[in-house]
Amino acid sequence: MSDQLALEPILADEVTVSARLAICNRCPSLTAEHTCARCGCFIQFRASLPYKRCPDPDGDRWQQV
Ligand code: SF4
Repeated sequence: MSDQLALEPILADEVTVSARLAICNRCPSLTAEHTCARCGCFIQFRASLPYKRCPDPDGDRWQQV
């Protein structure tokens, strides 16, 4: 995953990533402690990309971040 992130031109700042991951860690869609069941992404990866949003169909859980 760090190799993939190294290819990304812009990464989210550490505070944003931590806040997003805290929300994911309380989310019922989190599976195996690292994967979002809504999109199949590793949450650490998705949360590190500033242009990504939480894919929950009931609403973006990261909106408050
Ligand atoms: S639905 Fe959103 S908050 Fe829940 S695990 Fe997926 S990305 Fe995280």
